[in-house]
Amino acid sequence: MKKMLLLLCIIPLIIMGCSVEVEENKETIVKIEKIEEIKEIEEKSEKDVIPEEKTIEIKEVEEVKEIDLDEIRPNEMGKVMVIMYHSFGESEKQFVSTPEIFKEDLIELNDLGYVLVSLEDYVNNNMDIEAGKTPVILTFDDGHSTNFKVFEENGEIKIDPKSAVGIIESVYKENVDFGREATFFLNGNIVFGQAEYVDYKLNYLIDNGYDIGNHSNGHEDLSTLSADAIQNTLAINKEKIESHLNGYEVRTLALPFGKRPKDEKLEEFIYNGKWSDIGYNNIAVLNVGWNPANSPISKKFNYKSINRVQAGSMEFQLDHWIDYFEKNPNNRYISDGNINEITVPESLKEYIDYDKIGSKELIFYERK
Ligand SMILES: [Zn+2]
Repeated sequence: MKKMLLLLCIIPLIIMGCSVEVEENKETIVKIEKIEEIKEIEEKSEKDVIPEEKTIEIKEVEEVKEIDLDEIRPNEMGKVMVIMYHSFGESEKQFVSTPEIFKEDLIELNDLGYVLVSLEDYVNNNMDIEAGKTPVILTFDDGHSTNFKVFEENGEIKIDPKSAVGIIESVYKENVDFGREATFFLNGNIVFGQAEYVDYKLNYLIDNGYDIGNHSNGHEDLSTLSADAIQNTLAINKEKIESHLNGYEVRTLALPFGKRPKDEKLEEFIYNGKWSDIGYNNIAVLNVGWNPANSPISKKFNYKSINRVQAGSMEFQLDHWIDYFEKNPNNRYISDGNINEITVPESLKEYIDYDKIGSKELIFYERK
C-alpha cells in the first residue's frame, strides 16, 4: 500500500515537476537577469565611486608625505613679490612693459620655482602650492587695452596672444603647474578699451580664475578727496564692475598713484565705506612700490598696506628683486607643500604673528 501511494504521489510530482522546472527556469532567467541588472548597477556605481576614492587616496598620500627639510628649506615667513604691471608698448619704460618682456618674466619666474597665486589666497594665508615653490602675484593697473584685447575670427571671440591675458594663457598651456592668476585693477570708465567686449572680458576673467580689483572710478588721487568723494568713487566703481558679473564681489583696492588720505579718519574710507546703498569692504589695499611684501603670517604684514614690486629692469624693479632672491634665497617665501601646516625656520620665530596662524599647525626647524 505504501508503494502504491508512493507511486501515485510520484506521477503527479513528475508532471508537476516539469512545470516546476519550467517555472524554475523562468525564475532562473529572471534571477539571472536581475543579477545582471544588479551587477550593472554595481559596476556603474563602482565606476562612479572609483575616481572619488582615488582622489581621497592621493590626498591622503600627499598629507602624509614628509618633506626633507634640509633639501626643501621651507620658509613660510619669507617675502612674497606682488608684481605691478601697467600697459605694454613697443619698448620698456616707467609703467610700460612689452609683450616679449612680460613673457620672459613669466618664463623666468617659472624656471626659478615661482608659482602664481591669487591676491586673496595670499592675504588669507591660504596658498596651496607645492613644496619648495615660491608664490608670486601678478597685478595690472588701469585696465589698459594691452592687458586684455580680443578679436573676432569666423564669429568666434579670440584673445590677442600679445595681450597680457593671451601671454598668461600661453605660458600656462606649456606650464600648467605655474598656474594662471592675476588681479586686474580697473577704473569704471576705461575697461580694457573695447567697450563692446567689456561684459565678455570681465566674465572671462572671473570664469578662468583671474580676479578684478578696484582702482577708483576716475583714477582720482584719494589723498585730495573728501569722505563723500572717496566713498563715491570706490563704491560707484565697484558697482560698475559687479554689474557685469553674477555674484562676484570686488574687494581689493590698488591705490591710484599709490596715494592715500593723510587724515586717519579719511583713510578709514579706503578700507570700508558706503555710497548710496553700495557698501564696500576691502581685504587688501595695494601701494605702488618698491619692494617685496611680507609673509601673511609676519607681524609686519598689514592688509591695509601691501607693497608691490614694479615690473622692469630699472633700479629696485622686478629684475633686481629676482636677482636678489637668487642671491638671498633665505629671504624668500618657500612653501612646505602642506596647506594645513606652516613651516618656519626656528630663527624667525619671534617675527610671527601668532593670531594669523588660525587652525594651521606651526612647525619649526633648524635651517642649516
Ligand atoms: Zn593707476
